[in-house]
Amino acid sequence: MHPIAQLDHRYLWHPFTQMRDWFKREPIIIMEAKAAVLTDVHGREYLDANASIWTNLHGHRIPAINAAIRRQAGRIAHSSALGFASEPAALLGERLIGMSNPATLYKKREVEGVPFTNPKLARVFYSDNGSTAMEVALKLAYECARRSRRSLKPRFLSLAGAYHGDTVGAVSLGHIDLFHKTYAGLLFDSDQVMAPYCYRCPFNRAQPERADARSYRQCQWECLDCLAKKLATARRRGNPYAGWVFEPGMQGAAGMIPQPEGWLARAAALARADGALLIADEIMTGFGRLGSGLEAGARSKGAVPHYFASHLEGVQPDFLCLAKGLAGGYMPMAATLTTASVFDAFLGEYEEFKSFFHGHSFTGNQLGSAAGMACMGILNSPKCLENRLRIERVLRQELASLWCLPQVGDIRQAGVVAGVELVRDWRTRQPFELKERAGIRVCEAMAKLGVLTRPIGNVIPFIFPYCITPQQIAQAVAALGRAIAATFEGHSGAGARTTKPASPAHKKGGAKKL
Ligand SMILES: *Cc1c(COP(=O)(O)O)cnc(C)c1O
Repeated sequence: MHPIAQLDHRYLWHPFTQMRDWFKREPIIIMEAKAAVLTDVHGREYLDANASIWTNLHGHRIPAINAAIRRQAGRIAHSSALGFASEPAALLGERLIGMSNPATLYKKREVEGVPFTNPKLARVFYSDNGSTAMEVALKLAYECARRSRRSLKPRFLSLAGAYHGDTVGAVSLGHIDLFHKTYAGLLFDSDQVMAPYCYRCPFNRAQPERADARSYRQCQWECLDCLAKKLATARRRGNPYAGWVFEPGMQGAAGMIPQPEGWLARAAALARADGALLIADEIMTGFGRLGSGLEAGARSKGAVPHYFASHLEGVQPDFLCLAKGLAGGYMPMAATLTTASVFDAFLGEYEEFKSFFHGHSFTGNQLGSAAGMACMGILNSPKCLENRLRIERVLRQELASLWCLPQVGDIRQAGVVAGVELVRDWRTRQPFELKERAGIRVCEAMAKLGVLTRPIGNVIPFIFPYCITPQQIAQAVAALGRAIAATFEGHSGAGARTTKPASPAHKKGGAKKL
């Protein structure tokens, strides 16, 4: 075993990892990278098909980003935002406010005949990771509800399957039992409401087809009725929700679950009408991941691309939570953007003690802000937009080739992000049990083919750096196809089989390892 692997095995503890499994094999040791390709300690190359856990925006070792970090390091790496201002943090703040208030959101709007006004985002509060960006929104919304006397015991509503991070407040907003149940005793209560998951929706009366379940769903938006009911019940009980928390466009860690067109606009209108603050978790979806709302060439005609998933449905939240790609995946950096009205609730004389008593040592980090500025510069370029439009198109074409596999139940893409849900047989939608490690086995097979991504249960995500080439996208999708075929070899999936067929992995004793 490589000496670094030995050190790792001896001293480290990896996140979201059963370490007993970890010790069974030599880890891939990533030594360097260029653009979308990672290189390990033996010189083997891998495609970074999940953008290094969804963080990397433009690719690795991009000269403009490296230069910005180097330039900043030549001046100062970090100074305290508790008491002092800094140039990169101020510049990035201006940039973020500019990108997050597109003029189209402020034209006269209505949703199903009801007029709808969007607030403006006016302030940036920095922190250093996604969970803390959520904590900030949570605390601010909590205190706003109390100060406005909307609620003296503020409660929050979030979506089923939600994941908003791993700190205690963020976990309290989450609803993935596997991660969150253990800590129930440590958490505050929050309510959940049905999320649109068309492929497995009890209200979707459509039989499975070889297409994204959103495209053939048969329902009456019952999920929105559930939301309306939740909001009304809390109100009737005299404690309306302080905030409604959602991942706009697509729920990430829930399994790359995209929302059908029109869901977010309608859901946001319900929450607005109720008076709850809208807390958008765009930690995965932000910075163009879900598309720009533009067709190829539209920009040359003066159209402006959207950078945030909320905006694709004409929704402006009261809190826009950003992290992951904010500094391109180079530095830990996060921001919670909010409105003047939230900000004003914390203004007062010193002795009123209305300040927001919250802040992390690395708030507004200068290196991170400088990297963020370089990343936003690239993101705003016409070339990057063309790349993103091309990724969207090529990925859609390539993924279509997977429908012939019986273990592919749903292929769902939003913008440049996609999830492929594996099932025992597409005709029954019957899921693999978690302990079968279907997603893990497929990703291990993909790694052998030189493509790295991390499964979410039975869902295989693709989320690429924007510098990825069409050939590399084809390579990634082909690897997934081959990995599925190899992993489930012998599972013909023929017929609407509901009994559990023995897989070759089981025959070879793979089951013992489960
Ligand atoms: C990753 C993620 C988080 C948590 O961010 P961390 O930086 O890992 O704390 C929260 N919400 C969403 C949607 C995410 O994808």
